[in-house]
Amino acid sequence: MLQANKQVAIVTGGGSGIGLAIAAKYVGQGIHTIIIGRDNDKLEKARQELGTLCYPIVHDLSDLSSIPALINNIMTTHGQIDILVNNAGINMKKDFITTTDEDFQQIIHTNLIAVFVLSREVIKQMQLRKSGCIIHISSMAAQYGMPRVIAYSASKSAIDGMTRAMAVELSGQGIRINAIAPGFIETAMTATALNSDPERKQKALSRTPMGHMGKPENIADAALFLASDSAAYITGVILPVDGGNSIGF
Ligand code: NDP
Repeated sequence: MLQANKQVAIVTGGGSGIGLAIAAKYVGQGIHTIIIGRDNDKLEKARQELGTLCYPIVHDLSDLSSIPALINNIMTTHGQIDILVNNAGINMKKDFITTTDEDFQQIIHTNLIAVFVLSREVIKQMQLRKSGCIIHISSMAAQYGMPRVIAYSASKSAIDGMTRAMAVELSGQGIRINAIAPGFIETAMTATALNSDPERKQKALSRTPMGHMGKPENIADAALFLASDSAAYITGVILPVDGGNSIGF
């Protein structure tokens, strides 16, 4: 069970896919949930769907220098941040050799450095209350070689390393840090990559012992558990939610 007192969560990329499912779970538990994305229409639609405990903020997180002010504004409005889910992410399918410096940088800024800056700014206030929970959304691409996702894989592997390092440093201060590594989940991100290539989709599914793709709600269930008191003694974990993909086939 989640704590009975008022709780505030931030879910980045909460306007769609996995982030929206996580935000819906949190709102369903009475958690005041701030969702952040770049697309106002998407966020507004989510707000209408999720109701009054959902607070959309339009913000491009790849603009790293603007993040401290973003967190300050959230603190002024909501007074506390109990849970941060670093879910926003981008991917780009390109051969290694055609990936430009700018492509690489764009992905690293959004998937990694923004996660670092957001976490640092949020942790500053979590340290004062000696409590908090951060969940990074990683990927099985962090652990397994996949073609044409060079910068994405690099960013997610770094997230795994950062999860462990943060957990070791911060857990003694009451702040738990965990990550979730989704397998193939049905969202806009995979629709572009897999649905346009049935052969690739079949190959991906043949490597998934459960034989089907996951749903955003499967990741949301894990994010709800990790944020709850039921996970009070869990930190530094990278939890696969992947239909068995990571155990082999
Ligand atoms: P979506 O494309 O549906 O969601 C990505 C979200 O990130 C969008 O809501 C988008 O919002 C937001 N976002 C992207 N860039 C920025 C930015 N610069 N600033 C603010 N928000 C941003 O994909 P998923 O739901 O599938 O992905 C969510 C996470 O799960 C990602 O980190 C992804 O890497 C990870 N993941 C997904 C898997 C899958 O199979 N789907 C597998 C493994 C990991 P907006 O468009 O409004 O900017």
